[in-house]
Amino acid sequence: MRIEAEFLQDSGLRRVLSALNDAGHQALIVGGAVRNALLGERVVDVDIATSALPEETRRLTEKAGLRAVPTGIDHGTITVVAEGHGYEVTTFRRDVETDGRRAVVAFSDRIDEDAQRRDFTMNALYADASGEVIDPVGGLPDLAARRLRFVGAPRARITEDYLRILRFYRFHAWYGAAGKADPEALAACADLAAGLEGISRERIGAEMRKLLAAPDPSEAVGLMAAAGILARTLPGADAAHLPALIAAENGTPSDWSCRLTLLAADDPARYLRLSRDEERQQEKLTEAARLPLPEAAYRHGARIARLAALIQTARGAPPAPGWDAQIDRAAACRLPIAARDLMPQITGPALGEALRRAESAYIASGFSLNRDELKRIALEPSAI
Ligand code: ATP
Ligand code: MG
Repeated sequence: MRIEAEFLQDSGLRRVLSALNDAGHQALIVGGAVRNALLGERVVDVDIATSALPEETRRLTEKAGLRAVPTGIDHGTITVVAEGHGYEVTTFRRDVETDGRRAVVAFSDRIDEDAQRRDFTMNALYADASGEVIDPVGGLPDLAARRLRFVGAPRARITEDYLRILRFYRFHAWYGAAGKADPEALAACADLAAGLEGISRERIGAEMRKLLAAPDPSEAVGLMAAAGILARTLPGADAAHLPALIAAENGTPSDWSCRLTLLAADDPARYLRLSRDEERQQEKLTEAARLPLPEAAYRHGARIARLAALIQTARGAPPAPGWDAQIDRAAACRLPIAARDLMPQITGPALGEALRRAESAYIASGFSLNRDELKRIALEPSAI
């Protein structure tokens, strides 16, 4: 079996591989790049596994005129920069000791040992510079059947690193056949779910983002909910409306943050360690989903309002026909008056109050009130 992918022609990649190959080392493309090339899916990063020890990788690639950055030297990774692109080159490894979170590794010169420590058979595929695939653990038939299978016994592999529970659902969502998740793996994930307590929220957050970004994560999230895993990673989350959201997206996937908003978890920012910007986006989407769409568009812009429309539809309260045009119109509207229009008649805290009153009236009028009408409303003595 041979992969035919454009990235194989990248001259930077070819230079990295030949720097190692020419010195007699194995150097192979591994993991997601091989899997995705075989599936005809987009390849983002090209990772390389090699029999060369890290110092040797560094020496040989520098000798070939490339830049070697020891980004993860302790676990054997050197990032080699070739023609402006970074390739992570990692020495073959085997696990010496595991504690459910991180492993103590030893370097190896054997590809079969390297394959044994990878999580799933479809993630343990390698390809040489010509694209020829090497499959030490039987990943090709699993990939063809879109069957996500642990390398080795699921229970043993999960207790080595509990994050693999979430990785199982993530890769099933992306590459597994719907309705065909491996029952033995599912049972192991459910039984061992408590081990996730020891995994950092950063790592959990990174996996959950990738899971929710799958074209259709609804089956995987539903399985997580059934196994009690969703409640551990995202307390308060409700997976029930997710299939309806995916249906409403109608083949144009939204994004992970929209799916996350729909789940309505308690404090996702804390549980998933969201960045400040991501948290703001959650707040805006949550608010927008509760507002009439024109108001959502006026307050938060057309993009957020369109996502809010999907969320409302998924929750069984689809917006009224014509909403799409309403969003564009409302997003372009600006409150026609500003503080300076009301001064000096109103000053101090009353000014903010008056502006808010005018803005409510403006929204309620369908953005039709003009400057003079709004000024009159703003200057009316307040009801309180
Ligand atoms: P993606 O396209 O999402 O990046 P990927 O397969 O490249 O998919 P990564 O999380 O980037 O996934 O990991 C790269 C490779 O490293 C995997 O394909 C797998 O072989 C191995 N790997 C990563 N994390 C683990 C883990 N926790 N346990 C075992 N193997 C792992
Ligand atoms: Mg990757």
